[in-house]
Amino acid sequence: MSIKVTDISKVYGTQKALNKVSFEVSSGEIIGFLGPNGAGKSTMMKIITCFIPQTEGSVSVCGYDVVEQSIEVRKNVGYLPEHNPLYLDMYVKEYLHFIGGLHKMSNNQLAKRVPEMIDSVGLQVEQNKKIGALSKGYRQRVGLAQALIHNPNVLILDEPTTGLDPNQLAEIRELIRSVGKEKTVMLSTHIMQEVKAICDRVIIINKGEIVADETTVVLQQQNGSEIIVTVEFDKAVTTTDLNKIEGVISAQNTSGNTWKIKSADGKDIRSILFKWAVENNLSVLTMQREEQSLEDVFLKLTK
Ligand code: ADP
Ligand code: MG
Repeated sequence: MSIKVTDISKVYGTQKALNKVSFEVSSGEIIGFLGPNGAGKSTMMKIITCFIPQTEGSVSVCGYDVVEQSIEVRKNVGYLPEHNPLYLDMYVKEYLHFIGGLHKMSNNQLAKRVPEMIDSVGLQVEQNKKIGALSKGYRQRVGLAQALIHNPNVLILDEPTTGLDPNQLAEIRELIRSVGKEKTVMLSTHIMQEVKAICDRVIIINKGEIVADETTVVLQQQNGSEIIVTVEFDKAVTTTDLNKIEGVISAQNTSGNTWKIKSADGKDIRSILFKWAVENNLSVLTMQREEQSLEDVFLKLTK
C-alpha cells in the first residue's frame, strides 16, 4: 500500500477541517481527490507530506508513519503544493540543483539528474531562464520537476492545473499521466472533467468527510439510477397518459410535443415508450437517452 490514511481528523483552532477520514491508495494508482473549496483537500495533502501534523489518526506512506518516520516519508514523497510556490529570482537549473541539495543529492548526482528532469518535463527551451520569466504552464513544469527530482514513489499534486490555459492544461495532464505510469499519484482538483481525463479512481471529500470513493465508471453508474429519456411525438399526448406507462416516474413537457421522461431503478424505457407510441397511433420523431454526467454526480454528493 502506498498511502494509508486511518481516521484522520484535523482541527484548526475551533474549526474542524477533517473528520475521521480514511482511505488507501495502492501503488501505481492515479487517484483524484475531488471536492469544493474548503473541503479539506490541501489539509489532507499537507498531513500526508509531513507539512503539518494531524490532530488525530494516523497516516503511513510506503509503510512509514508521517509522525514517527517523517524523514523516510519525505524521501518517498514528491509534493507540488497549491499555488506552486517557487523562487522567482532563481534560474530553472539553479532552483532544481537547490531542491536536489535539500534532498542531500550530491553535485555529481545532480549534474546528471537535473538535465534528465528538464528533458522529462519538457523544459529544454526554457532551461536557461529565470523562473520569474516563465509562463504559468512552464512554472508548473518546474514545480513538477522539483517534486520528481529525488525520484519519489509517491507524488502529491495539489490542484496542479488550476489557472492554466486549455493548451497548457492538456500538456500538463499528459505529463501527469505519463509520470503516473511508474508512480503513485494523488492529485486534488475541483474539476470533475480532470478526474475523468487522468484518474483511475476518485475520492470525493466534502466538509472534511469522504462522501465517495469509487472508480470513475462505477461512480457514474451508481449515482445515475434515474434515467431520463427525451422523446418527441408527432401528436399531442398528456402527462396522465405518459405516467400510466410501466416504469415511468415522471413526465415533463419541454416544448411542443417533446417530453422529458424519467424512469426509476436504472430502467431504460426506450423500447417500452416506442411500443406504447405504436399502440397509440403515434410516431416517435426523436428519442434520446440523457447521460448523467460526472458533474451531476459531484453536485449531488457535495450539495
Ligand atoms: P481545500 O484545499 O479543499 O480548499 P483546505 O484544506 O485548504 O480546503 O481547508 C479546509 C478548511 O480548513 C477550510 O475551511 C479552511 O478555511 C480551513 N483552514 C485551512 N488552513 C487553515 C489554517 N491554517 N488555519 C485555520 N483554518 C484553516
Ligand atoms: Mg486547497
